[in-house]
Amino acid sequence: MTFPLRGAPLLRDPRFNKGTAFTEEERESLGLLGLLPDGVDTLETQVRRAFTQLAEKNSNLGKYIYLSSLQDTNETLFYRVLRQAPAELLPLVYTPTVGEACERYGLIMRRTKGLYVGINHKGRVKEILRNWPVSDVRFIVVTNGNRILGLGDLGANGMAIPIGKLALYTACGGVPPEFTLPVLIDLGTDNSKLLNDPLYLGLRRPRPSAAELDEFVEEFVEAVQEVFPRCCIQFEDWAGVDAMRLLEKYRDRVCCFNDDIQGTAAVALAGLMGATRITGKPLSQQRVLFLGAGSAGLGIAGLLTQAMVLEGLSLKDAQSQIALFDIHGLIESTRTDLHEFQKPYAHELPSIKDFADAIEMFKPTAIVGVSTVARAFDRRVIEAMARVNERPIIFPYSNPTSRSECTAEEAYQWSQGRAVFASGSPFPPVRYGDKTFVPGQGNNVYIFPAIGMAVYATQATRVTDEMFIAAARGVAEQVMQSDLDVGLIYPPQSELLRTELLAATRVAEVIYARGLTRMPRPDDLEALIRAHAYIPEYHSLG
Ligand code: NAD
Repeated sequence: MTFPLRGAPLLRDPRFNKGTAFTEEERESLGLLGLLPDGVDTLETQVRRAFTQLAEKNSNLGKYIYLSSLQDTNETLFYRVLRQAPAELLPLVYTPTVGEACERYGLIMRRTKGLYVGINHKGRVKEILRNWPVSDVRFIVVTNGNRILGLGDLGANGMAIPIGKLALYTACGGVPPEFTLPVLIDLGTDNSKLLNDPLYLGLRRPRPSAAELDEFVEEFVEAVQEVFPRCCIQFEDWAGVDAMRLLEKYRDRVCCFNDDIQGTAAVALAGLMGATRITGKPLSQQRVLFLGAGSAGLGIAGLLTQAMVLEGLSLKDAQSQIALFDIHGLIESTRTDLHEFQKPYAHELPSIKDFADAIEMFKPTAIVGVSTVARAFDRRVIEAMARVNERPIIFPYSNPTSRSECTAEEAYQWSQGRAVFASGSPFPPVRYGDKTFVPGQGNNVYIFPAIGMAVYATQATRVTDEMFIAAARGVAEQVMQSDLDVGLIYPPQSELLRTELLAATRVAEVIYARGLTRMPRPDDLEALIRAHAYIPEYHSLG
């Protein structure tokens, strides 16, 4: 059978284009003679050229634009480049650079990617989905641009987020790119700067009420079920209250998850599991005190209690080992200002307004910072943790770096090098005494591509919290002794694909054990996952 695309249209198709790597035979048979210079590249030479061109861009946004154009012209080369240096390139394709890209999206936009589903087209969502050229979509990452990273309402400019996230599904989890679809649900924006920007490309209307939002999302979810029946929906960067409400509404009804809530919880859990390998105390013996009782803190606390229950504790005992401290002080039973979801952690404890005092009283083995308050883990806090623990676990998870509750250097210095440390934002290695510590980064990228791969390979019909616990365990068990020796409790980012394929195997075990797929269980789940993983290489098209 002859290949259906020929000539210039083939060179413009990112999925099949090989650019200068088309062989002489392919150039003859596919009508490419004269459309390319005489030299025939290998993929390796093209990778070398791409890295040279990338190095010539002198800003991170410039590098983002370059990589985005590469994705538009030659997908194979784009993913080959990402796979070659994930630790170096992920911060360019995703956070932190994607934040800058969203802020300037109207300006840097070259070629559109993904689908814009606007509330002005209410009643026509199915028609919009059918305009997508691929009929078997397996993953949609969808945002409404209302809470982009820590940057707030960026309206339709938020499209860079689903695009970036899905690139990581492929680069780090091995999900083939043709099955992925980035979606921006355009509900307008309340950002007056954007509304007054002539280059803004989204709907120019105020955001709707929660009821209107829910009604439109319902139309979207139902349309996805009909048009792409095997599709998993990942909600991303919705405002906290909308995110929680939509997850509760859909998690048992369709195949979906929310990475901000569940992925964050799982990556923190993976960190705690990694830390237990240094401290020697199992999860069921950990006592965790959170600074911050918002969506991140409660999400982590919820998944952590479930993981403790799987280790044999009763739910009540697990909850009693977790305490939260918010802007008004320690969450305890006499507080009258608590949300329903905070109440399971409101124990009979004294009313304490100082975090270091709360440490002396609760004697946590770990503190997790999800407060957005920079420097909140001050010297007194770290010293209190070092007094009550031989190896205090200290996780300042607030992002970006400027919001981190402490730096890696502070945690190691003030604990005399005894801290088991990981953070939300990356920190460079720290020298203390004659030792160099390598701080780990609790980045959700360890988790969601593994979940995606497992769902894709098994055709799972639901995404459950137990699957996230399995992903966390899968990540934690791949931390090597040599990593632990330098204090690193997450696997190195240079090994992301390997890490995630193995974590995906753990997730697939849960999918089959719980009957979350109609597919028959193969004997070798690791082989199943590997067989589904996308490899960026050229295939003969002649
Ligand atoms: P949120 O606004 O829902 O919650 C913030 C919480 O911090 C609230 O409970 C608030 O009462 C508390 N707080 C504020 N000021 C305080 C103070 N001075 N003392 C004590 N408590 C205080 O925010 P969120 O969505 O839960 O996110 C919190 C942080 O977690 C953010 O910085 C975010 O970047 C980070 N986060 C990190 C990751 C990751 O690293 N993987 C993932 C998600 C969120």
